[in-house]
Amino acid sequence: MLVRNGEAALPGASAPLRVDIRVREGRVSEIAERLEPEAGEETVEAAGLLVLPGAIDSHVHFDTPGFTERESFLRGSAEALRGGVTTIVDMPCTSLPPVVSAAALRNKLAAVAPEALCDYAFYGGIRGAGPDGPATTERDLEELAAAGVAGFKAYLVSGMDTFPAVDHEHLSRMIAKAAELGLPVLVHAEDPAYVLPAAVRIKAARGAAAPTWDDYVDSRPEAAELVACASLMALARGREGTMHVVHVGTAAAAEHVSRAGGSCETCAHYLAFSREDFAAKGASLKTAPPVKSAEERERLWELLASGAVSFVTSDHAPARPEEKRGRDAWTAYGGIPGVGTTLPFLLSEGWLKGKLGLPRLLEATGGAQAARFGLSARKGAIALGKDADLVLFDPKGRTTIRAERLYSKGRDTPFEGLALEGSIRSVYLRGRLAYDAARDGERPGALPREGSISDAAPGVALEPGFGRFLSRGCP
Ligand SMILES: [Zn+2]
Repeated sequence: MLVRNGEAALPGASAPLRVDIRVREGRVSEIAERLEPEAGEETVEAAGLLVLPGAIDSHVHFDTPGFTERESFLRGSAEALRGGVTTIVDMPCTSLPPVVSAAALRNKLAAVAPEALCDYAFYGGIRGAGPDGPATTERDLEELAAAGVAGFKAYLVSGMDTFPAVDHEHLSRMIAKAAELGLPVLVHAEDPAYVLPAAVRIKAARGAAAPTWDDYVDSRPEAAELVACASLMALARGREGTMHVVHVGTAAAAEHVSRAGGSCETCAHYLAFSREDFAAKGASLKTAPPVKSAEERERLWELLASGAVSFVTSDHAPARPEEKRGRDAWTAYGGIPGVGTTLPFLLSEGWLKGKLGLPRLLEATGGAQAARFGLSARKGAIALGKDADLVLFDPKGRTTIRAERLYSKGRDTPFEGLALEGSIRSVYLRGRLAYDAARDGERPGALPREGSISDAAPGVALEPGFGRFLSRGCP
């Protein structure tokens, strides 16, 4: 395949370069100013289009096997492709059983392999003891590492019975083991000694009256993130580089982690919204941590531009409609579908509007994730020998996010109605057409929440099962 006349976003370049890109056996084989098509070679005309590397979303919850009424690997990976994401890393906590052992990982692999539309890697879980099983041990981490996980995930505060939070003593042992194995530890960092009593106090003060969104946000303020990050970096002392804090919503917390030698990510919702938006968005905006002030939002953009926040993920975590609608600030499900909206959002609000230069855009949407999670041999950039994962993006197009057109099972998104600059025209995974916007637009109106993949995801051009497992470090 030959992609001709596009403006390619090549690693490190400050502006797109007009080049032709040849793909052989699924990988980029030649990049040059001008390449002539060979006999019988398929050509893709990309004049006027930006050619981007397929994005990596290193924080999603595709719930197969387990809570598939919320999201399945099939629908989640279809939604990923729609949004220009060709590789995801899936979290261990929302499967049943959770991915806390090599046996559970094999079980997960068997369940998702026939469904996957995009390429995928997994984290292993570090959980505390609970009704569903004992606390994670050093031996578990060794087995998970041998099975190829990209890192380990733990919670300082958890809302899941099947995946209890860890205490400091346990976590410090797990960090030591992970460091020895050369794998990062990803942590949901909100301090339980702040969040849990704050919720009790605020609920008591409210009495019988209906809770407000401020009640929820006030129970998980900036200090809860900052204290948690300070504790984490103290627990990791001497092994700070092992630590990665997920979905940071507080600028000072991100600065602390970065200065101490760890890494962190933020999510599109922390860059798009602030607590004032709960008035209009309600439960569709509920996540943990919650979005904070407009000032935090703007500071997170600055930290993303500087690199103190390494990259942006979606924390894609859809819910059933009844878990979001008709619930109050305490009982609504925390989590939003985002794997398909993050790249279009960052291209429009970050790059096209001048908040992120091209090198930082590329790092934030894939390059930095690939490096952090051992996927760089194949993923994260348009470069010779790497997988030909390509997004053809029209910077002059327009995209309006419509919840009813998402391929995800979850349709409660705070991004509903957002008008963005630019539009994704097509997506290629290992040189194969994976998503075609032209097919997507043929059928107007709401897509079905359940049913066949061709009805629910009309733009997807691949067959389920095309997606491949990426074992850490494996070329
Ligand atoms: Zn998450």
